[in-house]
Amino acid sequence: MARYFTRRQLFRLRNEIPIEDLLRRLEWPCKEREGRFCFVCPRCRESVTGVNERTNLGRCFRCEENFNPIDLVMMVREIDFVEAVHFLEEDWPATGNR
Ligand SMILES: [Zn+2]
Repeated sequence: MARYFTRRQLFRLRNEIPIEDLLRRLEWPCKEREGRFCFVCPRCRESVTGVNERTNLGRCFRCEENFNPIDLVMMVREIDFVEAVHFLEEDWPATGNR
């Protein structure tokens, strides 16, 4: 299992996997509330959260923390960074050349 990843590869995983799709794929509790997407924070378990579509980061307003797709996989699945990257690569393979 590869332990080193290119910048480009990590950039893609952080930016091109929509947070909403990812959380649904992980079967993590999340929902649309008054047209706004929110999810249960994997850290504090509250759902005072939101997603910034421009930066593709999930935010917990209680923890005051942002989570990118790799962070979320690590926390939800309780796995390390390397395993999380492999998980995302398998579920969202890159299309075209890299
Ligand atoms: Zn939180």
